Amino acid sequence: MAMPLTIHLELSELATIETVKQHAASGLIGRGDPISADANRAAKIVEIVRSLFLPLGEAVTIRLGDGTGSDRFLKADFAWNGDPDIGGVSAQGLGRTKLGKFNRRAVDQNRPVTGYIFEGAIGGWIVDLLGATVIRANNVFATFIAHELGHQLGLGHEAAKDNIMFVWADMPVADRQQYLRLANDVKLAFTEKQVAAMKATIAAP
Ligand SMILES: [Zn+2]
Repeated sequence: MAMPLTIHLELSELATIETVKQHAASGLIGRGDPISADANRAAKIVEIVRSLFLPLGEAVTIRLGDGTGSDRFLKADFAWNGDPDIGGVSAQGLGRTKLGKFNRRAVDQNRPVTGYIFEGAIGGWIVDLLGATVIRANNVFATFIAHELGHQLGLGHEAAKDNIMFVWADMPVADRQQYLRLANDVKLAFTEKQVAAMKATIAAP
């Protein structure tokens, strides 16, 4: 059997709800499981990401870490991209060692970063689109992390709002809300076809 692909997530700089509030236009903050300074939050988010990748079995291992020695490395960054419509960017996975073009931040030039999530943008969506509902921000962040990792494992976008790889950009507000509600409840999953495609990417040279 092929070596499992190791993915490290660096979530140590995840923003607090106060930071998101400062950047949110609406000021609506929900109840429930808010974005917080919970010291265990990163570990909780990793657990949720792992649950979304369970169908891949031993093909992929997901850990918290700084990327040292890992095959793939996704980092949470508050607002590097600066575009409120983009929640993350990733290298496109073409194979286990082959990745499509990807621009790192200058500060990460010498680090093995292969993807980012922009929590400022995602926090803004949570605040604006789920403001009146019970929010489980860890679930939402974990879903967007899984989406970016899906790109790293070779997946493209899907139009269906009940798919983790929902395209998001330019989609109607109602579709975005539905996607966020499903993410909030960890109701999104990769399809069998997507799982097979990700396994094929990992198995390729
Ligand atoms: Zn995407």
